[in-house]
Amino acid sequence: MNPQDAWAKAYHQLQIQLDRPTFDTWLRDLILLDASTPDVFVIGALNSYIRDMLEFRLYRTIRKAVSEAAEKTVELRFEVYTPPKANPDAPDDMPLFKLLAQQQAAQEAHAEREVSDDSLSKRVGRPQRPDLPQSELNPRYTFDRFIAGTENEMVYAAARSVVERPASAYNPFFIYGDVGLGKTHLLQSVAHDCIARKLRVIYIPSEVFTNDLVDAIRSRSTAMFRDKYRSVDVLIVDDIQFISGKETTQEEFFHTFNALYTFGKQIILASDRPPHELQTLEARLRSRFEGGLVMHMPPPSLETRIAILQMWAKERDVKFDSQVLEIAAGTKDRADGRAMNVRELEGIFNHMVASMHLTRQPLTAPDAADIVDNFRRPRHVVTISYVLEMTARQHGLTVDDLVGSRRDGAINHTRQVAMYLVREMTSTSLPQIGAAFGGRKHTTIMHGCHKVAEDMANNFVTRAVVEDLRARILKGE
Ligand code: ADP
Ligand code: MG
Repeated sequence: MNPQDAWAKAYHQLQIQLDRPTFDTWLRDLILLDASTPDVFVIGALNSYIRDMLEFRLYRTIRKAVSEAAEKTVELRFEVYTPPKANPDAPDDMPLFKLLAQQQAAQEAHAEREVSDDSLSKRVGRPQRPDLPQSELNPRYTFDRFIAGTENEMVYAAARSVVERPASAYNPFFIYGDVGLGKTHLLQSVAHDCIARKLRVIYIPSEVFTNDLVDAIRSRSTAMFRDKYRSVDVLIVDDIQFISGKETTQEEFFHTFNALYTFGKQIILASDRPPHELQTLEARLRSRFEGGLVMHMPPPSLETRIAILQMWAKERDVKFDSQVLEIAAGTKDRADGRAMNVRELEGIFNHMVASMHLTRQPLTAPDAADIVDNFRRPRHVVTISYVLEMTARQHGLTVDDLVGSRRDGAINHTRQVAMYLVREMTSTSLPQIGAAFGGRKHTTIMHGCHKVAEDMANNFVTRAVVEDLRARILKGE
């Protein structure tokens, strides 16, 4: 078989054998440049970035395919080539990062000619690894505080094994399920543990990714944006459903995804629904999401709910007898047919603790039943303005104080508490919350929420204030 035919055959074989993202990103534009040296195929790649990747990661796979097609053992050499009719304007389907890499390759070509045997390890040092902003993680969202019952132990185990072997078993790892079932808790547990293992991690709600991208485009710093997101070992994007309908975000996320995936980096996503129900998601992204492990986060069983209550009681050093705990965990689903979620359970628990502290008496079964009934009654919808109003009232302030710019006294802290509760109790995005708080930036909101989460972990006064307020808002009193 002549070399050109062997190459065509191998190329076709690789297309079948490799997954789509790998093939499209790294092999799509390869050509056979030269085969005049016996048993050596010189393969042309569009830029040094792709060439390094092929040498570093895909050499053996490609060599095997070529050797089989040529029916003899061949060696490969990858070289950068310029296509004859190179169009300096990027073709429409040129992924942004490929274009970037091409420009970079052009700049480097000169330097590389002088230092011709630049070592591979040096060359694969790209992309740049800028310092990452610290991920805003809730210190309480850790694996040891996540109760795994029989219904959710698979998801829990999968999350743990992602930490043990990032990017090897489950990539991407996609968790979906209703609100309040522990998706964010699990995602952040993975983040905490990966950080402890010195991995580069970004945990980010998808709305923040979008905002970051918009900022980068506006300030013409998209290269930095890409370096940041493509230099991580683990990228965790929460509430990915919010990228539905946002084309630019989807485009950029698609390329981020491909770049990370092909470099063997872990991607973890959470959503309120499975990929195929994400209506305005581009098909190619949906198929990427479905290409890994997609798992449903089920509502907690009664036993799990009781175990969660027991854990919280122990942490807070309060005692409830087992009958009370069972009542609190609820044996029936709610009137509207939805199973009880853990966030509601938290509300019930906080009420029980508050009620017990108030009366200084052990909580009886009828007391517990009352509290649960209160929660079971169809409740009002918690809105941003309601949270603002309640928070202001509770602290002797006005809503204007909270959304305004005064920072004196306790206003700033109270404002952050309001941000935290709005974020937790309403389904509004960070930018929307920022707008409601007098046009603050989403990063300010994130910072505020993070501050309060940390305070609550370390300071029981803050915790009591927030929990009391949350209980009142839930009750609508
Ligand atoms: P989601 O992201 O799915 O909406 P969260 O992760 O925000 O849900 O969980 C809501 C609350 O319930 C959090 O306080 C979380 O710690 C708690 N929670 C959920 N599931 C569990 C669990 N299995 N064990 C312990 N806490 C849980
Ligand atoms: Mg969540």
